[in-house]
Amino acid sequence: MTQPSDSMISVEEARERILAFFARLEPERRPVLDALGQVLAEDVVAPFDIPPLDNTAMDGYAVRAADTTGAGEDTPRELRVIAELAAGAVPDMTVGPGEAVRIMTGAPMPAGADAVVPFEETDEPLRGVNERPRKGGTVRVLKAAGVAANIRFRGEDVRAGRVVIPAGRVLRPSEVGVLASLGMSEASVYRRPVVAILSTGDEVTEPGRPLQPGHIYDANGYSVAALVRKYGGVPRLLGIARDTVEDLTARIREGLDADMIITSAGVSRGDFDVVKDVLAREGSIDFWTVRMKPGKPLAFGAFAAPGGRRVPHLGLPGNPVSSMVSFELFGRAAIFTMLGRGDWERPVIRAITRDEVRNVDGRRFFARCIVTRGEDGRWYADLTGPQGSGILTSMSAANGLTIIPEDVPVAHPGDEIDVMMLDWEHAP
Ligand code: AMP
Ligand code: MG
Repeated sequence: MTQPSDSMISVEEARERILAFFARLEPERRPVLDALGQVLAEDVVAPFDIPPLDNTAMDGYAVRAADTTGAGEDTPRELRVIAELAAGAVPDMTVGPGEAVRIMTGAPMPAGADAVVPFEETDEPLRGVNERPRKGGTVRVLKAAGVAANIRFRGEDVRAGRVVIPAGRVLRPSEVGVLASLGMSEASVYRRPVVAILSTGDEVTEPGRPLQPGHIYDANGYSVAALVRKYGGVPRLLGIARDTVEDLTARIREGLDADMIITSAGVSRGDFDVVKDVLAREGSIDFWTVRMKPGKPLAFGAFAAPGGRRVPHLGLPGNPVSSMVSFELFGRAAIFTMLGRGDWERPVIRAITRDEVRNVDGRRFFARCIVTRGEDGRWYADLTGPQGSGILTSMSAANGLTIIPEDVPVAHPGDEIDVMMLDWEHAP
């Protein structure tokens, strides 16, 4: 048990101290679709060539290019159609001089042919639908084809034995597709962290239950759980702990098998000591004052779990905006680290503020804003109304957070400021 300490630290220092507790989790095999957003633990090596065979990129006629030399609208070259090939067929014929095979996109090239003439460059479109040439009929080629025209060659996408996706890569939809194209139904990825989430406070009520006078609904448990899931973790809601030693202790113990425990509220100066006492008694904890707004109070420590395990504990402030912003800055980085992802840093863009942003108390100000592109092609930031740390709708309306530095007391309308983007897809 450590005594609460009350030093003012920077966002970076808080994050560094927190991340020192986290490491990548162990690998596991997952179905490729479930592994979306997880990090590959092993190189993925192609077991075969893709495409596996030379095949046609167009519907048309597989021909010998030499047979089409000099072909034109007025000088068609007539070829005998010896067969028809659909995608999935296995060709057993050879295209000889003066011959062609009617062939559909994706079908393997027959032996002897070295080019595909698309239907549009033959007389096929000029015929009626029921007059397409059958085996034994003829087709007229209206344009010369070069050798290799419209052929997709074996291995041109992926060569057998090559590393197609290296270990460490985050699986996006395109990687999921590539894995599937290699015939893989599972991938080896670092496990998703299970994050136990506990709201605290005698006034906090579970949504869906009747609200007593003076009480509020639990926003934090749900917003944080949603963020955990969004960033690739598995949230586990532990419910709401009363501000009593017994209830808090019991609920924390229910979360000790998780990879991380997140609590909200009970970490600021004015709080009943019972929360801090219990947090400290169940492990070690530091109470920090972080030079940021919102989210100044923050707690971080570790609970002692059975078997000598230590479960990292992030204690978020109670105010709903503070708790979300603190999670964005610290919890997200912790989850990414456990997932094996180093890319937790948010994209920061330069935008022109249209509002005055006052920053009076020397902290870094993460004001909620909405960023849009102006008609001049530049990015503009508008604050999302009142910025109180209890006003959760200000977060809901935002797609970014201003980063007004600690030593900048005011940004004036027209000033260029940094904005940390939370959500590129959320447009007003
Ligand atoms: P505290 O850190 O306990 O002083 O809480 C700060 C503020 O956040 C108080 O107004 C609490 O009522 C509020 N609060 C605490 N927990 C929650 C929660 N889970 N959902 C919404 N508001 C909360
Ligand atoms: Mg409280």
